[in-house]
Amino acid sequence: LSCFEGVQQAPPDPILGITDGFLKDTSPQKLNLGVGAYRTEEGRPLVLSAVRKAERMVVDDATRNKEYIPMGGNPQFCALSAALAFGPDSDCSREGRLATLQALSGTGALAVGGAFLARHYQASKAIYLPVPTWGNHHGVFGSAGLVVRPYRYYHAPTRALDYAGLIADLGAAEPGAIVLLHACAHNPTGVDPSPEQWRGILRVVQERRLLPFFDSAYQGFASGDLDADAAALRLFASARGPGGRPQELLLAQSFAKNMGLYGERVGALHVIAACPQVRGRVESQVKIAVRQMYSSPPIHGAAVATAVMANPALSAEWQAELASMAGRIKAMRAALVAALAEAGAPGSWDHITSQIGMFSYTGLTKEQCIHLRDKWHIYMTLDGRISMAGVSHKRVRYLADAIADAVR
Ligand code: PMP
Repeated sequence: LSCFEGVQQAPPDPILGITDGFLKDTSPQKLNLGVGAYRTEEGRPLVLSAVRKAERMVVDDATRNKEYIPMGGNPQFCALSAALAFGPDSDCSREGRLATLQALSGTGALAVGGAFLARHYQASKAIYLPVPTWGNHHGVFGSAGLVVRPYRYYHAPTRALDYAGLIADLGAAEPGAIVLLHACAHNPTGVDPSPEQWRGILRVVQERRLLPFFDSAYQGFASGDLDADAAALRLFASARGPGGRPQELLLAQSFAKNMGLYGERVGALHVIAACPQVRGRVESQVKIAVRQMYSSPPIHGAAVATAVMANPALSAEWQAELASMAGRIKAMRAALVAALAEAGAPGSWDHITSQIGMFSYTGLTKEQCIHLRDKWHIYMTLDGRISMAGVSHKRVRYLADAIADAVR
């Protein structure tokens, strides 16, 4: 008998489970719209040309070794990541109020930030998450020791932001509570607040003295423009509260999507503090959390991202490739709406083109998603979310015919 006899089987991961089903499906027509990773028109993963070149530079650099890097990671990577997120001349950076640590992609940054808050943030242990949100937020923050609470976000009947519900829920949150905000391209809905709505969210955050924790997994992927997609984050980062007190916040930044570095686990955790003294103390405690969890981050992926960002030619090439990925996704949105009209699918599908980012929240019911899977070999999460990156000119009519059949 095993000493682990009492261990129960864990439920399958809802997203990885989709890929399992897809791989087992023998139909030549099968289509995987579950994965949150970019695909080319041919349906293949993409390594960006700028990344390939940077990687070659890193590998060929004979001055590099494999020694440990500091707990906070590669300092040049941290400085360039901060400039990417907050802009090249941000107040928080110039005033010494910004702590930046390299992290194991976005998830690792969320986990370290969550662990730091659970241990050292006094005002509240509650973190408010939008409904719906990326599924892993619950697990990451729950296991960090925070108490997860919901705030209204998506309004299904209008397929738009439930702005009134959001403001009401955050306005009733306990003072000092943490609030998770998707910086852009909200996952899974593709619905973002307007610039004016972001100002309203900042107002309620300041009134209730909430602590914003931004999750930025898609900078550059929503619009194709790195600066445009950072606008909401920068609005908060440059805000001042009563008496000129700088707005404090956390940011989990991922390079998985925008540099296509998924498996390299490249990201950063940033904390903006009100003054350099507090920033120093916070940074020291975040480093302790890192030390206890994994000691120090890996060197390779961050070195590649650094080489891309530090080299003007590679950086320009990267941004052009990023714009082209975002452009293909936007083109697929338009193509799907047109194909749905041709297929005679009842109802309005305009939300597919108004939503942004990697995903579209189609509004299909669970039963319709199961119908698509069982009859049409189309795989997606059962909440109706499809990855637009999985769509191509070649397959869009098949997808539209299938959706039209499912909703009829
Ligand atoms: N946050 C959101 C909203 C995401 O969609 C993702 C990736 N699916 C992540 C965080 C984390 O991604 P990673 O750890 O690969 O950076």
